[in-house]
Amino acid sequence: MVGGESFLGLWSDNWSNRRLRDALIFKDKKISYGELDAATLQVGSYLSDRFELDRSTTVAIMAKSCEAAVILNIALVRAGCTLVPVNPSLSLDELAHIVTTAKPKLFISFNAEISRYLKKRSDIEVADGEWLYQDAKKPSMCGVAAYGRSTESTTLIAFTSGTTAAPKGVPISNSSISWNLRTLAALWELNSEDSLYLSLPLFHIHGLVVGLYGALSVGASVYVEDRYSPAVLEQLLRSRDVNTFFGVPTMYHRLLVSGKADALSYARLVVSGSAPLSQVLFEDIFETSGKAVVERYGMTETLIISSNPYRGEKRRGSVGIPLPETNVSFTDEEEILISGPGVLSGYLAEDGQIEAAVSSSTPFATGDLGHMVDGYLYIDGRKKDLIITGGHNVHPFEVEEAISRISNVLEVAVVGKPSLEWGEEVTAFVVADGSLDEETVRRFVGGRLSPFKVPKSVVFVESLPKNVIGKLDRRTLKAQCFEGS
Ligand code: AMP
Repeated sequence: MVGGESFLGLWSDNWSNRRLRDALIFKDKKISYGELDAATLQVGSYLSDRFELDRSTTVAIMAKSCEAAVILNIALVRAGCTLVPVNPSLSLDELAHIVTTAKPKLFISFNAEISRYLKKRSDIEVADGEWLYQDAKKPSMCGVAAYGRSTESTTLIAFTSGTTAAPKGVPISNSSISWNLRTLAALWELNSEDSLYLSLPLFHIHGLVVGLYGALSVGASVYVEDRYSPAVLEQLLRSRDVNTFFGVPTMYHRLLVSGKADALSYARLVVSGSAPLSQVLFEDIFETSGKAVVERYGMTETLIISSNPYRGEKRRGSVGIPLPETNVSFTDEEEILISGPGVLSGYLAEDGQIEAAVSSSTPFATGDLGHMVDGYLYIDGRKKDLIITGGHNVHPFEVEEAISRISNVLEVAVVGKPSLEWGEEVTAFVVADGSLDEETVRRFVGGRLSPFKVPKSVVFVESLPKNVIGKLDRRTLKAQCFEGS
């Protein structure tokens, strides 16, 4: 692949060579590359005409992963618009913040209540996604060539999950995406023989860019599912209909507890990211399937930063080696700093201006703590999650990792409980399978870690709060459990 080329060029080049190959597979429908090419050009030209879209138009789309939403998404990107993928489970307040910040000209909604709410605003046009798609497909709507955009243009405005503040808008350029996709395709040897099982949400970089756009850039097939199903994944792997899986650790955990993880042995490539993959889970998957999960690390603001190698040594607990052209350094407090072609230039402010997040002399501060061993990067946790107890620093991951080695622990989260005596007390929340008591957990951790890291208390819970992408939501956990303490 040629450096600097837009990923839209990769799409058209790779699609024209394999027009009969399946591009997208939904539960009840297959769309070949030839059909995808024609449909997205037709839908793109229909939308451009109907809404007078041009290269500077921003369009938001709020949808689950259905056929109409995926085709509209690809059509808009091909037509050169800036796309704002919106999480369909946002509250109206969060939605209002996104609309005010990104200022889309058109908002495509698949939810009547959301449409009604947005139609009260005079600054945007609101359209029903399913209806638009059906109308655009009518034979009278003939397609014209999509015009595309330069690699410097903004392809996406993605919003961070905003666990500590309002979600931030991150403009992502075509060139950053192109660079990241080319680099990952080379690293993971992605190719047109691959078939990806994709149930990650398509409003997040992991599912949308790395998964969907990445697979389409090499002419691979994508099984799109709106909801992750270990049973469907198992069946697709066993029938050899998919050979590649991109997931978050929760998905690997669910595959394992459902007794279906051995099916991963049929896969060529299995990748985990977006949240830490515990060493225990890595080992259990390896023992069950013989597959070493390729763990990678990234952020909305930087795209993928590092990955374990596809062929070389995959180190458990590590997020791998920084990608080529990506520079990783650390502050004195061990915060990870990044510079490279995937890093954002700034956040979108409510006045539509870009607030610089990096400069030529200051790399991007990730908010993650970490360290390097032999060129492999290890994440120690989010800076804001660091627990300071009696003057000692405790990384929650380290304690979680230790507790997850107790055989009947299913899930664990460690947080700091406000304490007059200690500042914060290390507190563990545990989901256990069968009987387990606090003392056993404390003794087990005491046998492995320094005394100040041993949880002062262990709370047994039915489940742990997670966000839509499956990341542990420590803020909600703390709010639920320590309110008023
Ligand atoms: P997002 O912007 O939603 O993709 O979230 C990015 C954050 O997810 C990073 O800053 C990390 O805190 C976390 N993250 C992503 N990948 C990993 C990983 N492999 N291990 C640990 N944390 C990760």
